[in-house]
Order: sequence, then C-alpha cells, then structure tokens
Amino acid sequence: MYYKRVMKIALADLTYLSNDDAAQTVPLNVAYLAAYLRQEADAPEIEIFKDPLRLYNAVSADPRSYGCLALSNYAWNFNLNRNLMEMVRSKNPAIIAVMGGPNIDASSEEGIESLFDAFPGLDFYVIGEGEQRFAALARAVVESRTNVRRVWERVPETIVGFDRRKRTVLRGRGPDTGHCDCKALPSPYLSGALDAFLDDPRFVPIIETSRGCPYSCAFCCWGSSTNSRVRPFRTETVLAELEYISARTKNPMKSLYIADSNFGILKRDIEIARKLKEINGATGSFRNICIYFNKNTDEDIVAIAGILKDLTDVTMSKQTLNPEVLKIIGRKNIPEGEYGRFYSRLRGMGVSTYCELIYGLPGESLESFLDGLERAYEENIRISVYPLLLITGTRIASKGFRERYRIRSAFRVMPRYTGTYGEIGSAEYEEVIVSHSKFSRADLARVRLVLFFHYLFSEPVFGDLVLFMRGEGLNVAAFMRFLADDRADRPAGLEALLRSLERASAEELVAKEAVKFRFTRAEVNEIREKSVDQNVFHFCKLLSSKGRLESFKGYLSGALERFCASRSPDADREGMGDVIEMCFDRLPDFPHVETGKRVRYPYDLESWMRKGGNLSGFRTGKKLEYALELDEGRLSVFRGLYEESGDAGLSLYRARMTFRVSEPSGVYTYRRTPVG
Ligand code: SF4
Repeated sequence: MYYKRVMKIALADLTYLSNDDAAQTVPLNVAYLAAYLRQEADAPEIEIFKDPLRLYNAVSADPRSYGCLALSNYAWNFNLNRNLMEMVRSKNPAIIAVMGGPNIDASSEEGIESLFDAFPGLDFYVIGEGEQRFAALARAVVESRTNVRRVWERVPETIVGFDRRKRTVLRGRGPDTGHCDCKALPSPYLSGALDAFLDDPRFVPIIETSRGCPYSCAFCCWGSSTNSRVRPFRTETVLAELEYISARTKNPMKSLYIADSNFGILKRDIEIARKLKEINGATGSFRNICIYFNKNTDEDIVAIAGILKDLTDVTMSKQTLNPEVLKIIGRKNIPEGEYGRFYSRLRGMGVSTYCELIYGLPGESLESFLDGLERAYEENIRISVYPLLLITGTRIASKGFRERYRIRSAFRVMPRYTGTYGEIGSAEYEEVIVSHSKFSRADLARVRLVLFFHYLFSEPVFGDLVLFMRGEGLNVAAFMRFLADDRADRPAGLEALLRSLERASAEELVAKEAVKFRFTRAEVNEIREKSVDQNVFHFCKLLSSKGRLESFKGYLSGALERFCASRSPDADREGMGDVIEMCFDRLPDFPHVETGKRVRYPYDLESWMRKGGNLSGFRTGKKLEYALELDEGRLSVFRGLYEESGDAGLSLYRARMTFRVSEPSGVYTYRRTPVG
C-alpha cells in the first residue's frame, strides 16, 4: 500500500493532431506505463493524453487536480512538450513534472544539462524503458510525500534530475531494475487502457511484439536506446491483442503499425503473420500493415512476406553501400549479391519491396553516395532516400562524433508538426546534415538536384520511362546524375525551376540560434501555408505550366538521346520516342483538365509492365487502344483549390497533399487501362 495519498497522473504522448488526420498512432508507450502502474491494488488515478488540446483543456479546467505530469519525449513533440509543460506549471506550480523517451543525450552530463535547460519546469527524467522505473519514481514520490530531495534515495540511477542552482546533474541512488521482462508486462490493449483511442477514428493501432534491437546503428535512436537482445512478448498475448484491436479499431485507413525494430527476427513471427492474415481475411481490419523487417533478411522474412504480401511492403534498408561508412556507423548489411537474390524472389512472389538510403553519413562523399545509389538502382527496387538527421540521443549526434567528422548541421521546421492549442502555438524542427569532412555545402546542393530527378522518376507517370531504361540496361540513377549536371543544355524554364528549388532548399535551413519553441498563431499559419515539400512542390509547378512541360518533354528526349549515345548507342530509339510520348500523355493539361481520353499505341503495355524487358519485344502488329482516366473526386479537390487561389501549381500541390496517404499521384496522373 505505497500510494498513501491520491496522486492523479496525466500521462501524455502528445502529438500534433488535426481532425482530418487518420495516421497518428494510439499512445502505446504511455499506455504500457499506465497498465503497469494500474496493477497495484492502490494505484493512482491515471489519465492518458495524446491530443494536446485535451490536455490543455483538462488542466485549464482544474489545474490542481493533477499531482504529476509525465510526458513522452521525442523529436516530433519536443517543443510541444516544452509549451505544454510551461503552461501546466504556470497553472499548478506544485505539480511534479517527469519526462522519458530516447530524445536525450544521456551519455554525457552536458547532454542531460541541456535537456533540463530546455525544460525549466522539469523535475525528473526517466532514461531507458519506463514501466518499472516510472513506477519506482511514482512510489518514491508518494512515499517521500513529494519532498523531492528524499526521492533520490529511493529511485534507480536511470532517473536523473538537475540542481539548477549548483548546475549539477542529480541521479537516483537506488538499484536499477534493468530491462523489462516483456513476458511479465500487462497488455495495455487487453487491460482496456487504449479503448478510448481505438474508438477514435483519428488513431491507428500500433503493437509491440518484441523489444530490443541487437544492432546499434549510430544514426538511430532505437538501437542506441535499447541496444540489447530481442525480448519477445508472450505469443498468446500478441495474438489476443490483435483480435482485440481488430474488433475495436475505428480507423478508416484499416492500418496497423508493428513497432518492433526487426520483425521476423524470431521464428514465431511467422505465426503472428498468419494471425494477421487470418484476421484481415475475416474482418478486413488490417489492410495496411507497416512493418520494420529484420534487416538481415532470411528465409523467415521470405515466408512472412509470402503470407502478408498484399498487406505490407518489405523494407530492405541499406542506408549506405560503402563498407567504410558502414564501419563508421556500426552497421553490417548482408552482402550485396544476397540482396539481389532476395529482391528477385520477393518480386516473383508479388511482394512489394523497397530500400532506404541516407545521404550525408560521416565518411561518405557525394560521389560514393551516388555510386551506391546507382548500384541500388541496378537491383530494380523502389528506393527512398533521406538526409542524415541528427537526432538527440543517437551516437551520431553526440559531441564526439560531431567533432571527429566535422559535422555541420542546420534546422528546418517540420510543417506537419505544427499546431495551436488554446494560447499555445508550437512547431517542431529537425536537425539535418549540411556538411562534414567529406561532404561540402556544394555537395548538398548537388545531391538535392539529383534527388529531385529521383523523385520525378519515382512518380508513376514516369514508370514507363524507368521500365524502358531498365529493359535497355540503362541505369536510371546514372541518368539522374547526368541531368543534374547538364546545366548548359537545360531550357530556361527548367533551369529557373531548379534554381528556385535550390534557393528554397537552402532558405528552409536555419541556424541553431534561430530555433525557437514559442510561436504565434499567425506564425503557425504561415508555416503551414508556406512550408512545402520542395520536391513535390516543384514537380507540381512543372506539371502546372503547359509551356514548361512541353519544353521539359523536348529536353528530356534530347538528354536521353545524348545519354544513350555515350552509354548504349544501340538502344531502341523508336521505343525511346514512343515511351516519352506515353509518359507525357498521362499528364493532364492543368488547370483545364479533361477527365478522360483515349490513346493508341503499337504495344501490349499490360504484358510489358508485368514481365519487363525490352519494349520492342511487346510491339504489336496494330495499335491497341487505352483509356486514360482521372478520378473525378480528386479532380474536384484540385478544382476547388484552384478556384480559391488561381495558382495551378500550388493547388495541385495542396490536392496532392490531401491524398498523401492513398495513391497521391492519382491527383495528377491519368490511370491507363486497355480498352477491350
Ligand atoms: S536502424 Fe534498425 S537495425 Fe539499426 S539500430 Fe536502428 S532499429 Fe536497430
């Protein structure tokens, strides 16, 4: 009976929510803490929050009803937490403020100090897994009758604080409990802790089937924070949770996240995959499952992919193909040849696969990154490329790493993570690489150009061109590099567009000194209106001007011809011309769009797209007819936006972002189907 007096706890995993959002996950992390605490016979009252406005309103209505505010801290809610904690403290100065989560450099006193400087109202930070440590803290707080000084004798060293007067870090002096035994943790789903969130259509369920990651990639918080063997939850509990979620979730996307770092690393994950398939077959509850697969792909991953093939993609992330860089970041990929074999097998099974790469990793020059990109393209797989993010709590963001590799960074605001709640205005930044000892600012500008073309060729509208190039043995990434460097031959319209992209990409970066956490409502609105995904926005600008698009089409044909002349003089020139026509046929004339039209080509395109290979092998004796159609609903969204703004590029961009989850390219790409 250690909770000697009532202490109502507000447990929050805050996020920037909007009413039209259906992609935020339920607060699983804090629900685990709640379920753990509630096991006690005299457990305190706990309220779980995800929506900042709900927390704001609850505290404003009765500030003194809460004895403790506990916030989960990550890069996407750091400033939101600062703002909410400040507001709660101002209304209830006696409240005990606790935080936890990987977004802290706990490896140095300096890192802990800087976190406490950012949160002047913070009393305790829980490092590592929270269930047992937070429970120990709650117990100690109550037993010490909120006398903070006496708490330190009763809590483990993984709980830290800061003496602001002496400027010293405080640490618990009690024994630490170590990693949790996942099999002994109560389920937040089965205990009902997440019912209210499953009932709310804005939230996507997320489940942990295991904890820990045996790898320790330097850029990743996950590895740095858990860095341990994989610890499974009970299989029966996981299966029962899936049944429970399926029966209760109201999320219209029918999505599910699996939070494990390496799903498929355990043999029993096959059984979980079968259960997912079975439940989806019976109820349709899990149509989109987001999984981070074990990066050392093996037969079990192939088996799981075969079971879940219509419900998920298989990520086979490499991050870099440079062995020296892999060593620096502490990562080991499977040999390149083995990736290729897995891709082919998975493709043969109809499984969608993709690979992630990071540019700007320490030790990686621009040329070595682009060489790796070319090799990745040879494997005929979807590729996502990200800049190196310096996430607090990762080894790469530590002072030592920054100094050793002369890492320079800047910050950019994340428009998706902005919002106003009562009088609070908030926005988040991400810290991105600008340069290091082998990568200059000029390299950054060049890689952004290459990646604009990468984005362009990843759009389904240029799918025919990519397929054609693959069939001819031409490397698409090498062509992207060629286009990025082909400045002298670019038409003026395209050149202006690329210069605008370059300027905007540089302007969105701000120095650390300019980063702030309080925003006015007007500033939040301005960020939302003006901050855009530069690649998507500039692509939309390209599509929205008939003249610019025409000159781009002519330029692309000529550039491809010049590229082929040096790489593949025997490439099929007739097919090349046809394929360019086919790509541009799929682009409507914005802003005055026809909803559909018919086209005729001398190719069996359906068979070509299924089988791949040389386009010439699918030439037919006569022309076949194809219907090109645009979705009326999506088109009406564009028209509505265009009527309001009169800016076709911006309207196209906004319409595209409206459908960012479900087939966004359907906004500006005719769907092509054979007639007859
Ligand atoms: S990137 Fe993946 S494998 Fe590497 S540490 Fe993070 S979770 Fe583990």
